[in-house]
Amino acid sequence: MMSYKAPLRDMRFVLFELMGAGELASLPGYEDFTRDLIDPVLEQGAKICEEVLFPLNRSGDEEGCTLENGLVRTPKGFQEAYRIYCEGGWPSLACDPEFGGQGAPHMLGVMIEEMMCSANLSFGLYPGLTQGAYVCLSGYGSDELKRIYLPKMVEGVWSGTMCLTEPHCGTDLGLLRTRAKPQADGSYRLSGSKMFISAGEHDLTENIVHLVLARLPDAPKGVKGISLFLCPKYLVHEDGSLGARNGVSCGSIEHKMGIKASATCVMNFDEATAFLIGEPHKGLRAMFAMMNAERLAVGVQGLGVAEAAYQGAAAYARERLQGRSLSGAKHPEKPADPIIVHPDVRRMLLTQRAYAEGCRALAALAAKQLDLGRHSDPAVRRDAEDFVALVTPIVKALLTDLGTECANLGMQIMGGHGYIRENGMEQYVRDARIAQIYEGTNGVQALDLVGRKLPAHAGRLLRAFFHPVSAYIEAKAGDKELAEFVQPLAKSFQRLQQATAQVARAGMRDPDEAGAAASEYLRLFGLTALAYLWTRMAEVSLAARQTGEDEKFYAAKIATGRFYMQRVLPQTSGLFSSIMAGGRTMMAFDEAAF
Ligand SMILES: Cc1cc2nc3c(=O)[nH]c(=O)nc-3n(C[C@H](O)[C@H](O)[C@H](O)COP(=O)(O)OP(=O)(O)OC[C@H]3O[C@@H](n4cnc5c(N)ncnc54)[C@H](O)[C@@H]3O)c2cc1C
Repeated sequence: MMSYKAPLRDMRFVLFELMGAGELASLPGYEDFTRDLIDPVLEQGAKICEEVLFPLNRSGDEEGCTLENGLVRTPKGFQEAYRIYCEGGWPSLACDPEFGGQGAPHMLGVMIEEMMCSANLSFGLYPGLTQGAYVCLSGYGSDELKRIYLPKMVEGVWSGTMCLTEPHCGTDLGLLRTRAKPQADGSYRLSGSKMFISAGEHDLTENIVHLVLARLPDAPKGVKGISLFLCPKYLVHEDGSLGARNGVSCGSIEHKMGIKASATCVMNFDEATAFLIGEPHKGLRAMFAMMNAERLAVGVQGLGVAEAAYQGAAAYARERLQGRSLSGAKHPEKPADPIIVHPDVRRMLLTQRAYAEGCRALAALAAKQLDLGRHSDPAVRRDAEDFVALVTPIVKALLTDLGTECANLGMQIMGGHGYIRENGMEQYVRDARIAQIYEGTNGVQALDLVGRKLPAHAGRLLRAFFHPVSAYIEAKAGDKELAEFVQPLAKSFQRLQQATAQVARAGMRDPDEAGAAASEYLRLFGLTALAYLWTRMAEVSLAARQTGEDEKFYAAKIATGRFYMQRVLPQTSGLFSSIMAGGRTMMAFDEAAF
């Protein structure tokens, strides 16, 4: 059986020792968020995740959601857990005080999200989607829509969804067919069908606020003709009370591989009353606000599963007795040694750990840049926005790819027992898998990186990463103690720079070349970003170790970083070779021969 303990020591290390979260209170709006406040919030978050959400993870997976007479029931215990979650004020944590939120920094929010994803990924999707809808509505909704809908969503009494996908239209949103007809009173009537809608229908909240992409009658073809609408399950009176049932219903729910306690719904809109968000035909821009927030959040789903799988595998490897250590028995008093003595098991455990801790640092760095969006200096704000835009596809794709890899390593460490349902690890493998697909497949994230982010503003976004990393490498070049970290980082960074030039050059000549390199390029970029963070974590830990406090923590941090540099980062060499080989072998392959 799995167990979960929130990695609070490591979260504090990342927040305060690596990212300087102690200075958040100097940013406008974050004045209250000193360490004295952040620490107890982390502890409370850990408590609800460990004691309320985690115990429902397996039972929720076994029971799944059910649909009866158009109503979706979440598994036993979910309603009560959601009530506790709302009473604790968690839905409002990262929301604006203007709508009843607590205005917490993103850096804190990302740690709480990680804990939720480790403890119960399916549960986390319900408030997760609401948070995304909140971001979109608060950015693009009219004052009237914000006044009516946001406070209830912030309180958690109403939830949100994101309705993009249709049966014939997934990645290519330009194909979507759902229609919106303008009405004399300024509202619209929506007709069409959406599929795969997470939290489209459920029994956790009083109302569900759907954000729906649809076309107006005069819409131009393709993505330039898409508008965004708000369509509630129950219509809402002026005073905020609930009115009649709207023409939106759940037609069926999907039977799927994982996240079984998260309802994935076909949603039918039948002349449903809806309200325009933002400008006509500019819906994708508004929806992208939600999708960008969601992409970072989905990356954190991968991180959450990676951490949970590591914890489960490490506990198992300490207990399971099989064989003897190659270098002689380590526990001669026992019938066999625990499998943690075997090099191959250690390889897998350390890979999981290096990924989980590295990804936590990367997620926190992205969150820090979101927080710097409040800085008074416009140049700092612009650099921070550039950084977030650049790393969003990397966080989404890398963290979810590694989440699946870590879950699979967890299963491998447990051998046949990992494959057996009641032991819990196979649920992580099944749950993690979807994160590589939804919110834009990881292949599409890679295309976003090479096709949009690299060329944007003549390469300006790239500088938000390249400049600080190259300055850091230069500054630390003479540091002997750190050399075992800085040197491999510099090598990998050089590969990344060369690959960037190659992708840009070849892509200009032939766009298929950029497409062919995209996924490997994203991984090369992501692994180099983790190397940069591992070097900085090693630097902080080497200095902290001198103080003699918490020696074991810092020693383990340095050792994990060393493993990453020596045993994981060399992947970048293979990725570099693949990228440089170009895409001819793929594109010249006869289509009929597939
Ligand atoms: C459990 C679950 C929950 C979901 N939740 C939601 C939700 O809440 N709201 C919502 O709107 N949707 C949701 N989705 C839908 C999800 O976002 C889509 O499945 C996803 O975006 C991919 O679309 P698709 O399945 O149609 O695949 P397709 O778009 O058909 O893609 C198939 C393959 O082709 C590749 N491909 C497609 N186009 C290109 C291209 N131009 N270049 C290169 N490769 C390409 C893809 O990477 C993929 O490998 C959910 C799906 C699932 C399974």
